[in-house]
Formats: sequence, structure tokens, C-alpha cells
Amino acid sequence: MQRLNVPGPKARKYIERDEAVISPSYPRGYPFVMDHGKGSQVWDVDGNRFLDFAAGIAVASTGHSHPAVVKAIQDQAEKFIHISSDFYHDSMVRLGEKLDEIAPFKEDALSFLTNSGTEAVETAIKLARYKTGRSQFIGFTGGFHGRTMGAVTFTASKPNYHRGFYPLMNGVTHVPFPDAYRPVLAARPGQDYGEAVVDYIEHEVLGRFLPAEEVAGILVEPIQGEGGYIVPTPGFFPALRRLCDQHGILLIADEVQAGTGRTGKWWSIEHFGVEPDMICIAKGIASGVPLGALTARKSVMTWPRGAQGNTYGGNPLACSAALATLALIESEYMANAARVGAVAIKRLTEMMERHPSIGQVRGLGLMIGVEFVSDRVSREPAAELRDLVVDTAFEYGLLTLGCGKSVIRVSPPLCTTEAEMEEGLEIFEHAIGIAEEKLL
Ligand code: PLP
Repeated sequence: MQRLNVPGPKARKYIERDEAVISPSYPRGYPFVMDHGKGSQVWDVDGNRFLDFAAGIAVASTGHSHPAVVKAIQDQAEKFIHISSDFYHDSMVRLGEKLDEIAPFKEDALSFLTNSGTEAVETAIKLARYKTGRSQFIGFTGGFHGRTMGAVTFTASKPNYHRGFYPLMNGVTHVPFPDAYRPVLAARPGQDYGEAVVDYIEHEVLGRFLPAEEVAGILVEPIQGEGGYIVPTPGFFPALRRLCDQHGILLIADEVQAGTGRTGKWWSIEHFGVEPDMICIAKGIASGVPLGALTARKSVMTWPRGAQGNTYGGNPLACSAALATLALIESEYMANAARVGAVAIKRLTEMMERHPSIGQVRGLGLMIGVEFVSDRVSREPAAELRDLVVDTAFEYGLLTLGCGKSVIRVSPPLCTTEAEMEEGLEIFEHAIGIAEEKLL
């Protein structure tokens, strides 16, 4: 396996220029400077080829520059690029109809279109307060919901996201996410850990200090993303839904990372057999053109004209890209994500026999987390080793991203073929071998 010369001379120059003019706050990982991409492959400015298991943080759902998405954008650009959400146009109406068709609840759905995931979350916060007349919320430790002031208040995956930014939004109480690999609450013998978490919310939070009738909503990622690609236990969502119903609390599923076909179903909450009241959407919906949505039950989205709006929401280029994206996901890529994801989980699980640093492999479809530990008994996170695997994989031609304390996400485009997955996993295993040799 050949080590690439990265960063090459052209990449170095770009990084130097970037550092002179771009905010230093961006959480840059390794020095990848993109030139172009096709499907699940990308090339840097020095001509190096990489397999892309990062997909621009789980965004390039149909791969890079899918011809059908490019054509949809081009066709729309020739007609008009912008009109503002004060007026009406074809692709916005059609996208609303499509979201209504695929929303994870039987009731009719209405959508508010946004420019990003964080704006979808802000919209959910405002709608929940407006609809219920209540002010309080429950969020989860390890959650990531964005970086604007309301959304970042819920975000609880790293202190960095809050440091220096207080005071945040008033009214968010955090509770543990049901991470059965690293439980922080005691479950009763035989009890599902997710049910134990809901018991805790009911008795230790609502029962002790947060009056249930003041809680507008519970915001939760059905599969935690940035926090470590954590899949909750099966009992969690049914119990959470019951608790919400009991107290008139809105259940808000943040599907920004896990949604839009990535897990093999349109919405990741569908794996758990409950219907939320709203879903926050972004990332994969338009193959990388900035677009998000808050899709809510019609009986919930009852605010009047002017209560919420934006300039770019429902932008024609973004809506056209989304319609082409959703058509591709529906016709082939959602099924592909389930199939290739299952192959990847099998291969990665086999890798555990050869690599003691892998503590757990988990996920659904093409949302897979590989957890690195210093040993499997203590489950101590091996952050340094994880970082070295990410950097080494890059040097051998594979783009990955970390998440959680010591997890690598496998979140490639949903069009990734089995052959591309095998090729990428070979590089991945090579990188793990190098990192283990250095650090174990
Ligand atoms: N919600 C989740 C689950 C996310 O993963 C993210 C981004 O990573 C966001 C919200 C915020 O989305 P954006 O970065 O588009 O604002």
C-alpha cells in the first residue's frame, strides 16, 4: 500500500493563504485541499486520489457532483436563482409535497425550509415554545444540534462548543443519552438501559425539579452523531414517546445527520417504531447544496403568517438539488446504504479479531461508528490512537472523521459500492495496524 505525499506543494500553499484570511475557529482536521470529486472518490489539488468515507460530514449523500443533481441545479439556475420565501415557486412546493409524503408520521406534514441544520433546530425550538406556550426543554449529553445560540445550548458533546459563549439560551436541562456501552445510570436487573434513562427523566428530573407542564419539547438525535455514532437501546424511544404523550411534551427528532436515507430508512427514528412530532433535516437532503427543513405534524405547525421566515429558505437551486437527491435516494441509494452498510459492519466486526484497539462496531446502514479503546475490559477511550488512525488513513488515501472521544465514523456517500467499501476498509485496517504498532 502506497503512502501519498500529503500535503503536496499546492495544498501547502492553499493552507497558508487560508490561514491568513479565514477564521481560525473552523475545526480543521488533516490537510486535505479538494480539487474535485466524483461519486465516492475525491482528488486533492496535487492530484492525489482518496476514497471519501466522510462525505463532507455525512452530506454528499448522492456522491460528489452526481450528474442528475448537477443537471437539476443547472436547469434551475438558467430559469432563476432566487426569489425569496415571500413568494411562491415550483421546486419549493414540490419539495414540501415530497417531505409530506415521506415524513415519519401518519398525520399530514408541513415544512419550514432553512439554510442549515442549526436553523432547522432553532425553528423547532421556536415552534415548540409557540405551540405549547411552555418554555423548558430536555436535551441529551453528547448531543450535537448546531452552533447558533439556541441550538448550541442543546449541544453537549464537547466543552469547546460552550466555552466563552455564556450566557446561552435559558431553559435546557440535559440528561444522559442511552449509551449502553458506557452507561452512567443504573438499570434494574433485566431492564432495557434506554428505559432506565426515561425512568430517570421521569423520576429524577420531572419528579424533582422540572415541572412537566413547563416542558415544551424533548430534542434528541435518534442515533447520536457527533457524540459518537451511538445507537440507543430498543426500549428507549417507545418509553420516551409514552412520557411525552403523558405530559403533552413535543418529541423533536434531530435527523440532520442520521436522516434522509443514511441508515437504510428515510428517517432513523423509523428503526425504533415511534412517530415524533417534528423532525429537523439538513445535511444529505440536497447533496451538499445548503438546505435544511423543519418538518412537523400539521396540527403542530399552527403559527401564523410572519411568525417565522427567512430570506433564502426554499431557495430554488437548493430545492431543485433536493428533489433530484431524494429521487436518487428513493430509487436506489437508500437500499444501497442498507446493503453496503451491512457488509461494512461485518468486515469491521471481523477486524476486531485482529485489532484489540477496536472496542465496538455499531451503526445502521452507512452510519457506522468504530470505537477505539485502550483495552476492552476498561473501555477506556483511546483518543490518541483514534487520531493517529484518522491521520494515517488520510496519508494512504482514505478520508474519515472522528466523533465522540475515540470513535471514527464511517459515513460515506450512500452510493458507495461494495468494491469501494472493501478498498476503503483495507486502507482503514492498514492505518489501524500502523497506529497499534506505535501506541499499543
Ligand atoms: N444536528 C445534527 C445532528 C448535526 O449533526 C448537525 C451538524 O453536524 C447539526 C444539527 C447542525 O447542522 P449545521 O452544521 O448544518 O448547522
